[in-house]
Amino acid sequence: AKLYNVAGWGSPYFHVDRAGQVCVNPCGEADDHEVSIPELVSKLQEQGLHTPILLRFPDILCHRLQQQQACFDAAVARYNYQGSYRGVFPVKCNHDKDLLSNVVSFGQKMGFGLEAGSKPELLMALALLAKHPGSNLICNGYKDAEYMELALRSRQLGINAMIVLEQFSELNTLLMVSKRLGIRPVIGVRAKLHTRNNVGHWGSTSGDRAKFGLKARMVVAVVEALAEQDMLDCFQLLHFHIGSQVTNIRIIKEAMREASFLYAELVTLGAAMRYIDVGGGLGIDYDGTSMDTVTSVSYTLQNYANDVVAGLQEVCTLRNIAAPIIISESGRSLGSHSAVMVFDVLSTPEEIGDEGTTGSLPTPGHTGGRSNKGAFLLSTFREVYEAISPSSDKLREAYADAAFVKEEALSAFTLGMLSLEERAEVDIHFDAICDRIMDVGRVHAVTLPEELQPSTRPHSAMYHINLSVFRSAPDAWAIEQLFPIMPIHRLDEEPTVNATLADITCDSDGKIDKFINPEGGEPAPVLRLHALREKQPYYLAMFLTGVYQEVLGSVHNMLGSTNCVVVRSGTRPAADSDSIPNGTDLPHANGHANGRSRAAANGTSRANSASHQHPKIDISGPGWYVEHVNPGETMQQVLSRSQHEGPE
Ligand code: PLP
Repeated sequence: AKLYNVAGWGSPYFHVDRAGQVCVNPCGEADDHEVSIPELVSKLQEQGLHTPILLRFPDILCHRLQQQQACFDAAVARYNYQGSYRGVFPVKCNHDKDLLSNVVSFGQKMGFGLEAGSKPELLMALALLAKHPGSNLICNGYKDAEYMELALRSRQLGINAMIVLEQFSELNTLLMVSKRLGIRPVIGVRAKLHTRNNVGHWGSTSGDRAKFGLKARMVVAVVEALAEQDMLDCFQLLHFHIGSQVTNIRIIKEAMREASFLYAELVTLGAAMRYIDVGGGLGIDYDGTSMDTVTSVSYTLQNYANDVVAGLQEVCTLRNIAAPIIISESGRSLGSHSAVMVFDVLSTPEEIGDEGTTGSLPTPGHTGGRSNKGAFLLSTFREVYEAISPSSDKLREAYADAAFVKEEALSAFTLGMLSLEERAEVDIHFDAICDRIMDVGRVHAVTLPEELQPSTRPHSAMYHINLSVFRSAPDAWAIEQLFPIMPIHRLDEEPTVNATLADITCDSDGKIDKFINPEGGEPAPVLRLHALREKQPYYLAMFLTGVYQEVLGSVHNMLGSTNCVVVRSGTRPAADSDSIPNGTDLPHANGHANGRSRAAANGTSRANSASHQHPKIDISGPGWYVEHVNPGETMQQVLSRSQHEGPE
């Protein structure tokens, strides 16, 4: 657990138990609801559902939501803030219907609403909020007349839809539609703050040159235009968003100060201001180091809430204005912990890497078919191997000699002087020498040759994983986002292999070779894993994947979505025990492995497989149960979808 710093990034939801298995406490504390991930996966396998499996824990999301509200309530009390806090969840973070309806139904008692960033998201949000009149709905994104009409009409359903202007030109459209329908809007403006978030991937969302928002002079122009129409009472909200995963609280403080004065100025100009929406940006600690780096954050949720509330309170007191309702649009912080992607290792093609750094040369086999050149090269390797001794000069020399012999062997092969078997033996000997050098270096604390130092690229085994990076962790590929990845079992054993991960797409980018460094700093080039055992599955999991990954995931190589299993705390409600809800049927146990079901991949007849008979998944443990399963897309479904969506 220490090696992977589970306590750092996973607390209070994930920990390793005494049996070396990763367990989940969905309610955020050690209680009766603990779920052992390997045990759950094995029960799912028994019932025909194969990895990769996305495990969703809605109770984690609810817990985070509650925590966020509690931190803001505490800050409101601490600073004697006269306004209140109401969160909204950005639909763009995850479009899953169950997840969003959970946010809405659980969050309702805290006045939690939704944020939509496009017309389809607006439709989804409306469907979810229709049953909850009074809910806040922040309408962001590009807006045409139809978008405006939908948002305005939703006010007639009792939804508090607030239309946030991202461009000045949207104002005309809004005024036109609002007049046609006779519905007065609640208008907000997204301000382009000068404050910039310079660290990380999303800095360009903020600052003067940001893609979205209105500069100060355009905000004033909105005030003037609304005053002209006698509609200043509709201008009620100021919004800003300084980018996702803000790593340093100083940026938040600065943004709050700038936005608070902007808010106060709008009040002075006569707008009927009631709300300030501080956007998203609340970061999470991917590596567990609590440092101000792209993969971490140097502040807590309470620090964040305190700085938002205190910053605003100060300006409200200074300008003697009423404290607004604070809205925030945190997605990453609320949703990330609630999903865990579990996948299996299919093979490690580099057999020698399997056993880790044992560093022994293979015993010479029969030499009958060996060429003179081959015999010479292999005996030279043996001499190099035997000369390895614990001094940095000797280690460097051994590496240089081995690399030279390998080069010579490759030239010999291209001249037709070496057979393929001999070339394979050369690889094995070279790798064994590297392993031996690294072992000796480690045991005797001697500096390694530069090429073998961990910071360069340690000798590593490539583990093939049953996953598509493009489908399930697109940010790992697109923006080199580091997610915590670790085995979910055998954690009572020392992992001995330095590994990188290669997925099952045919794309050479479909790999993971940068991992969280639990001590912070540069990413680690390898992940420490266990050697595979024959006929025993080896499972890994990628954590903190609950937002953005599913919505961005592509069908590269036509590998469809993975199976998704929703796990709830408590006992299954009585109504559910007879009829397990929709989606729990298992018409197709996907299991990826190149788009085929595992059964098909193994050559098992589907007609005889349990999954063909549509069994119900009925799995529970002490204090938890599988609420339902959404089977991943089958190859046929992916195919027919592509045929519909593809060119005529
Ligand atoms: N609000 C807006 C306007 C956004 O663009 C985003 C995403 O970047 C968010 C909220 C969610 O941000 P985060 O996931 O950092 O909380």
